[in-house]
Amino acid sequence: MPDFDLLVLGAGASGLMCAATAAGRGLKVAVLEHNPNPGRKILASGGGRCNFTNLEVRPQDFRSANPHFVKSCLAQYPPSRFLELVKEHKIAFYEKAQGQLFCHQGAREILNLLLGLNQKGKVKLLTGAQEIQVCHQKEPSLFLVQCSLGEFSARNLVVATGGLSYRSLGASDLGMLLARQFGLKVTHTRPALVPLLYKGFTPLAGVSLPAEVEVAGRSLTDDLLFTHQGISGPVVLKASLFWDPGESLQVNLLPGQDLNPLLLEAKASFPQKSLSKTLAQWLPERLVSHWQETFGWPTKGQLQNFSHKELALVAQSLSAWSFVPQGTEGYAKAEVTLGGVSTQELSSKTLEAKKQPGLYFVGELVDMTGLLGGFNLHWAWASGFAAGTAVS
Ligand SMILES: Cc1cc2nc3c(=O)[nH]c(=O)nc-3n(C[C@H](O)[C@H](O)[C@H](O)COP(=O)(O)OP(=O)(O)OC[C@H]3O[C@@H](n4cnc5c(N)ncnc54)[C@H](O)[C@@H]3O)c2cc1C
Repeated sequence: MPDFDLLVLGAGASGLMCAATAAGRGLKVAVLEHNPNPGRKILASGGGRCNFTNLEVRPQDFRSANPHFVKSCLAQYPPSRFLELVKEHKIAFYEKAQGQLFCHQGAREILNLLLGLNQKGKVKLLTGAQEIQVCHQKEPSLFLVQCSLGEFSARNLVVATGGLSYRSLGASDLGMLLARQFGLKVTHTRPALVPLLYKGFTPLAGVSLPAEVEVAGRSLTDDLLFTHQGISGPVVLKASLFWDPGESLQVNLLPGQDLNPLLLEAKASFPQKSLSKTLAQWLPERLVSHWQETFGWPTKGQLQNFSHKELALVAQSLSAWSFVPQGTEGYAKAEVTLGGVSTQELSSKTLEAKKQPGLYFVGELVDMTGLLGGFNLHWAWASGFAAGTAVS
């Protein structure tokens, strides 16, 4: 007789959702977590306010070898389902931009909601579980889990240990090791939703402005922030999801405006105005003077001294700035991990491993990574729900 119907490894977003769902169906569930407390990434999410979902979540909001894999989970658990839960628990929320929903009070409310559901389902939450090891017994099929807290057995095992980013919050490679142990393919992983490195812009550190970034055939618009190490801000974090090392990015620092005709118009109307003063109408002064030095614009002062060709080059350097980032700031600064357990190995409806009945992989651990904007937490809820509904 196993100790539990279901053992969940990891008390994060997907694990807590999965455990609550299965327990709500009457299953006997335990969750093993190595941190002293559950849900540390939830608490850190959205700058402490938890961008818990997005009003519209679609396959194109994700990067994966197979973004369509997300469809079945989204059909079972659309954003409206989580929103109902939030409303039921009287959690005040607001839409920040582009459908992104945040808590008014703080991420703690979302964690409390999940912990409440787990408590209601009498889920045994075991924290401080170190050195987890798993083996599978064939007849009868049983998962045996050994850890610092003892030995536990269950008919089903859900691995919900998350990605590799933010070790400080409890991230580990346990999930990927277990996937490989059971013969499942893990796709190449690397940091994503992460600042990009680019030397030479230190004098601009702190300058922030709206920008449009083109990467891998996508066009993304949001704020860009220059840092001591390179570039960051929402548009860069989003671009980092689709950027592959060695590829170039093209940045328009004046999105929605056609700079070349603007400069020609300014030259015709105010020929004695300086180029830098003209540009400073639309761009931060620090950026204009740095661009002037970096791109070697002629120092001709007044607009009337510039040829149309020279103004076109100035416009191009600002509206189609192309460069190859030198890398990323790594897992320590990455909100998520790109890649993970291959979707080919899992049922898109239940997240069960095709090679090992009773074994499931959910959340960020799976090769399904969302853009900035509530998509990653929604994937955690939806995949956790799908597995929690399927286990028997
Ligand atoms: C700073 C930050 C802010 C973010 N903000 C947002 C946001 O606002 N909106 C959004 O959609 N996404 C956000 N994300 C991403 C989002 O938090 C994650 O994608 C999501 O939490 C993934 O859920 P998960 O259950 O797969 O993993 P996690 O929530 O990371 O849970 C995994 C759990 O497994 C535990 N674990 C790991 N290894 C072991 C082990 N060896 N033994 C036992 N337990 C283990 C961990 O301690 C953790 O509790 C943010 C991420 C970060 C880092």
